[in-house]
Amino acid sequence: SMRALVIDHIDDQYHTQLQQIEPEQLPDEPVKVKVLYSSLNYKDGLAITGKGPVVRSFPMVPGIDLAGEVIESSDPEFSVGDRVLLNGWGVGERYWGGLAEQANLRAKWLIPLPDTLTPEQAMWIGTAGYTAMLCVMALQRHGLQPEDGPILVTGAGGGVGSFAIHFLSQLGYHVIAVSGRAELEPYFTKLGAQQMMARDELSLPGKPLQKERWAGAIDCVGSHTLVNVCASINYGGIVACCGLAQGMDFPASVAPFILRGVTLAGIDSVMRPKADRIAAWQKIADVMDPTILAEIGQTISLDDAISQAEQLLAGAVRGRLAVQLA
Ligand code: NAP
Repeated sequence: SMRALVIDHIDDQYHTQLQQIEPEQLPDEPVKVKVLYSSLNYKDGLAITGKGPVVRSFPMVPGIDLAGEVIESSDPEFSVGDRVLLNGWGVGERYWGGLAEQANLRAKWLIPLPDTLTPEQAMWIGTAGYTAMLCVMALQRHGLQPEDGPILVTGAGGGVGSFAIHFLSQLGYHVIAVSGRAELEPYFTKLGAQQMMARDELSLPGKPLQKERWAGAIDCVGSHTLVNVCASINYGGIVACCGLAQGMDFPASVAPFILRGVTLAGIDSVMRPKADRIAAWQKIADVMDPTILAEIGQTISLDDAISQAEQLLAGAVRGRLAVQLA
């Protein structure tokens, strides 16, 4: 038998428990993976505590990210001993995920773990770092160069924001970190930000067109913040939009788009095609400074996953949590 975190839904109540399960209870999928590490994302926190409608079927093993080793495969794409990585695809929401010692998965969901990353490092990075890199790549595809001007990152203290700052800075961009936590300034500096801005300056309703200030932005926040960001992007600039920490709404006007040619690039990590995932993870492996990563990442055991999920939702965790399974 093996250990797994299992979420049940009985009499309209969530019950999450560490359980011993038999391999036969796992879903019948072709690639069997020994999970070495998973992550605890905000989404996993919502699933584990039942505070958000993340889980689509019960019982469910949460864990939207995992890194591990193939122990059996009837799909020719993978062989025993391959080190693999998974982010999203509905795993941990619709399909059993990474917070168990084994996961049975589809080959289309898996990519090879880049050679220069350990499974633990990959899970410190997880969906947050991978999403941040997808955003950075959207800015680069648009042609944005460091000399074009500063780049704003909103929700800077979160997982996606922290990695976005670091990656942009490693690539030579001048980064402004927007945060509600002034005390994180030394942390942002370490990640590579040149300046900091208070969250309040962008969070209230603003004019549809404002002074041009930034060449580009990565927005994790949505709502009025995203409106104000779009209203202040330089002519021809770009905003990568990936999050909704302030809200799902977007009470904007078309002015920045039709008068300044600003581009709003939507970023989804969950259903992203495999080739883009491989490219993003290779680029992460290329630019990530391992010392900085060790500052961002912490590792916990499966026994602590439930209590840490509560801490995460309470906003009491800084950086990223990996969960060690083996
Ligand atoms: P996180 O670690 O919870 O960080 C979110 C950050 O947003 C917080 O640390 C905070 O930063 C800021 N924030 C929180 N509440 C806010 C508010 N009311 N107004 C303005 N800022 C606020 O989350 P994450 O993992 O980085 O994810 C960031 C966002 O991206 C989330 O909305 C998440 O759902 C989304 N996401 C999307 C994808 C995708 O595929 N598109 C993938 C991953 C995540 P400060 O304390 O520094 O202000």
